[in-house]
Amino acid sequence: GFRPASRISSIGVSEILKIGARASAMKREGKPVIILGAGEPDFDTPDHVKEAASQAIRRGETKYTALDGTPELKQAIREKFQRENGIAYELDEVTVATGAKQILFNAMAATVDPGNEVIIPTPYWTSYSDIVQICEGKPVLIACDASSGFRLTAEKLEAAITPRTRWVLLNSPSNPSGAAYGAADYRPLLDVLLKHPHVWLLVDDMYEHIVYDDFDFVTPAQLEPRLKERTLTVNGVSKAYAMTGWRIGYAGGPRELIKAMAVVQSQATSCPSSVSQAASVAALTGPQEFLKERRQSFQRRRDLVVAGLNAIEGLDCRVPEGAFYTFSGCKGMLGRVTPVGKRIETDADFCAYLLEDAHVAVVPGTAFGLSPFFRISYATSEGELKEALTRIAAACARLA
Ligand code: PLP
Repeated sequence: GFRPASRISSIGVSEILKIGARASAMKREGKPVIILGAGEPDFDTPDHVKEAASQAIRRGETKYTALDGTPELKQAIREKFQRENGIAYELDEVTVATGAKQILFNAMAATVDPGNEVIIPTPYWTSYSDIVQICEGKPVLIACDASSGFRLTAEKLEAAITPRTRWVLLNSPSNPSGAAYGAADYRPLLDVLLKHPHVWLLVDDMYEHIVYDDFDFVTPAQLEPRLKERTLTVNGVSKAYAMTGWRIGYAGGPRELIKAMAVVQSQATSCPSSVSQAASVAALTGPQEFLKERRQSFQRRRDLVVAGLNAIEGLDCRVPEGAFYTFSGCKGMLGRVTPVGKRIETDADFCAYLLEDAHVAVVPGTAFGLSPFFRISYATSEGELKEALTRIAAACARLA
């Protein structure tokens, strides 16, 4: 019979996919399910980006490209890092892959040996620990709850570092918590890393452009040039430019690492899509003003959702600095009993109840390594969000 490789045997089907499948099944049965689980903007890819893709197709740019990115896209990425982050990368210090997810995969596959440790603060984006495990590394999960703003502290980082530590993975703004690291939050962590030259830093800046209240986005390679030679700065077009389906992610980092990542990519997927790369050039070099409008629209929705959740007795939602997620505590709901007599023991039970009773699909904290919490993605219309909040409040009120 079938036997999976041991490197994937510990990786279960994600909680997010399970809930998504259940929600879709309920929708097919005609139930009015509101899905607040999706990790993608509800905006469309901008027209000028689509147009650049059409032109690339007509010009015949439909063949393999250079392995880890066309010179045009790498140049556009260099300029982006210089312009927006003040980081100077050479062309051969930049790499392009089929989504930021593949960037992460390439980086781990290229560097992690069995038994190497990778420090991941929780709550984390689910893929981090799974990718590390597929690469036979050991995820070292560090709980960073709401009391520290869902951020890693210098003390916790220092305590987690061992001679086997290969990487620290940070994500700001974070999926799922929306928490972001300002310069003052990063500084103590970077000071710890300066003391441990064998530890490399991977920062996932995917939500850079989705920040609120004049939050000042910064990234470590910009803040601490001494760490640049062991920092991989990961970014992509998926979230900022509403291009999740185009599958383009990129990174800047030390040449030797970038080269090793290309070796992995060359035997996994070869180059990213030629057409998507042309589209990404347009996204990075074209007009950027619409980002501000989209940011404002996300901020209105964030405010609506945070206020709605905090108005519900038993829920506790920290105001996120960025991304389009809230990560709300639901400790107050544990121990309560549903109208059909089921006791809510965990955040997964609470989310299952919201789906069955309120027909609202959200994702439990367990999926992100920190409980009891649940994540709402508010990248959907204000009308749907209001309706969802009303239903969640009513469902919570029905708990005894
Ligand atoms: N990093 C974070 C924090 C994300 O939330 C996601 C997508 O959900 C990604 C990376 C992956 O993005 P991409 O579509 O570029 O693979």
